[in-house]
Amino acid sequence: MNDGIGSVNPDRLPRHPTPELLREYLDTHDAPCPICGYNLRGVVLVNCPECDAPIELTVGSSQLQLGAWLTAILAFAMALGFDLIIGMLLVIPVVITGGEDDAVLFLAGSLTALGLGCIGMLWVLIANRSAWMKKARRTQWKIAWTIFMSVFLIHLLVGVGFVLIAI
Ligand SMILES: [Zn+2]
Repeated sequence: MNDGIGSVNPDRLPRHPTPELLREYLDTHDAPCPICGYNLRGVVLVNCPECDAPIELTVGSSQLQLGAWLTAILAFAMALGFDLIIGMLLVIPVVITGGEDDAVLFLAGSLTALGLGCIGMLWVLIANRSAWMKKARRTQWKIAWTIFMSVFLIHLLVGVGFVLIAI
């Protein structure tokens, strides 16, 4: 799947300004300035005449939609924040009970494990962003919502487990 070119990190590719191609393109096409929206058709400069932003000719893709990926990131980030806050609140009861309350220990242990799991999954998602982007959009959203629901359900189960041990 990785054929040399495909495995290059797109962020590290050198960027070549192409003023000739840009001028040729704008000579015959309407194109809004990505910064201010000014119609650049006929512009012969490499800066937007309206807002002076540098402009360049690039290849885009409608598949570069970060929504699903960000949803998955958000699911783990929110869960991590939740685990951290509840985990810190648990320090006091653990100390007060001398670590002898099974329910509190269960919750503290579960939240630590879940927090570490979230950090690991965040790392996996960030490290594999380009592989994620290569999947079809529908697949991306399917994975994202599966992650979101799983994270929610696992936390719910931990909460139920805590209540069951506590009563
Ligand atoms: Zn502009």
